[in-house]
Amino acid sequence: MTARIIDGKAFAAVLLENVAEHVTQLKQAHGLIPGLAVVLVGEDPASEIYVRSKAKKTVEVGMHSYEYKLPADTVEAELLALIEQLNLDPSVHGILVQLPLPEHLDEALVTNAIDPSRDVDGFHVSNAGLLATGQPAMVPCTPLGCLMMLRGYCGNLAGLHAVVIGRSNIVGKPMAQLLLKENCTVTVAHSHTRNLPDIVVAADIVVAAVGRPLFVKGQWLKTGATVIDVGINRIDQGDGTMRLVGDVDYGAAKDIAGAITPVPGGVGPMTIACLLANTVTACCRAHSLPEPA
Ligand code: NDP
Repeated sequence: MTARIIDGKAFAAVLLENVAEHVTQLKQAHGLIPGLAVVLVGEDPASEIYVRSKAKKTVEVGMHSYEYKLPADTVEAELLALIEQLNLDPSVHGILVQLPLPEHLDEALVTNAIDPSRDVDGFHVSNAGLLATGQPAMVPCTPLGCLMMLRGYCGNLAGLHAVVIGRSNIVGKPMAQLLLKENCTVTVAHSHTRNLPDIVVAADIVVAAVGRPLFVKGQWLKTGATVIDVGINRIDQGDGTMRLVGDVDYGAAKDIAGAITPVPGGVGPMTIACLLANTVTACCRAHSLPEPA
């Protein structure tokens, strides 16, 4: 058996097309152009690449992109003042502060300074609370993208057993909340979990968000399981070149799983598409207009 590949690029292309259509409608019917502000502190090369590609896609779908690059030694008060300015700017509907921040800055404080209605990353404690209590929230982009692919691939998820490996605030926990909302039976595993292979083998859906290359082995999986690999890990191939791999041993898993996301080309493209979708949602909510479905 060879697993079907869940093509994140194809899912993202459809979502981006919907976003672009919605942006056009907002412009034509209401004279509104959604705006996304991205704040980058310091010069982390991976973050710079993410910020560049977010800005590029934002413009491609017809929205305004505002980029703020601050030096690594920016003091907290200065960053908070910029966030406050963006919170009040009527042309800005979404605000994202690229993480990780330099060590001297308090990530929780900075994240919670963003107006929750503009918190398109969905990391604000109010949005986490709304999601946990089943109320309309800004949903973190990576788990939202995973859910869209699962729904698109599996249809109704009710009653399926989902095992989420990882419990971070940005991936694992919101993923578990979203799957609960879909009426899955959810198990969340973490670094203290015992007998992980015995837990994974019972799963209809496995979401791996661990940050360890090729961690989930093929033989852990139930035959036909749907596997979403969130991990992005760079490994040295031994000849000085680097290769991008996920948290799942794809080579072995594809012979046992029913469907699997590749790395790259799986979860990553959907994350950016969901960020732009969240920005349109924020714009619609700010103007009491119907939200995209
Ligand atoms: P974190 O490091 O914040 O969380 C990792 C989680 O994995 C923790 O909950 C940790 O448990 C758990 N874990 C670690 N070791 C084990 C183990 N041996 N067994 C079971 N669980 C374990 O990572 P993130 O959630 O931020 O990211 C996870 C991965 O996803 C990374 O590779 C990251 O690069 C990638 N990522 C990809 C995105 C995309 O767009 N594709 C977006 C965001 C992240 P504990 O809590 O006990 O420490």
